[in-house]
Amino acid sequence: MSLFGADTHTLDDLFVHGLKTIYYAERQIVETLPKMIDMATNLELKAGFEQHLRETENQRRRLEQVFEMHGTTADETTCPAIDGILKAANGTASDIDDKQVLDAALAFGAQMVEHYEIAQYGTLIAWARELGRTDCARILGETLDEEKATDAKLSDLAEARVNRAAELQRA
Ligand code: FE
Ligand code: FE
Repeated sequence: MSLFGADTHTLDDLFVHGLKTIYYAERQIVETLPKMIDMATNLELKAGFEQHLRETENQRRRLEQVFEMHGTTADETTCPAIDGILKAANGTASDIDDKQVLDAALAFGAQMVEHYEIAQYGTLIAWARELGRTDCARILGETLDEEKATDAKLSDLAEARVNRAAELQRA
């Protein structure tokens, strides 16, 4: 399977293909986050997922705005990469009984998703600028900031867990 369709010839085609891919990915994430919210036991992690679900719904709307500004109908292209990440993340988490380990697995899965999104949006923003569409780049930048903030929050949670474990060992 090729990464891009046969009808991809210009940078603009690539840009539109990328928009369709992330539009699909954001929907998969909207559908998966409620399961992760249900599974999470740490309240901060749960609340973080809830906040990011609302942000992700809004990110879909931002993409619709970018499609419209570009003059293209909003559409999805299946992305095996995000499918694989979500499948791997959920598969790992669903087998775990220990609450702390389960939360760690969920946070790990979420961070894989954020890194995927940061790569996608980072590239789309660069392409939008190259195409002279700073208006599209600015809107996509709002989403990129949310993905980065979510990633940073997940790293903070992981750090807090490490510190707690170290304290327990000292006690
Ligand atoms: Fe997102
Ligand atoms: Fe995200």
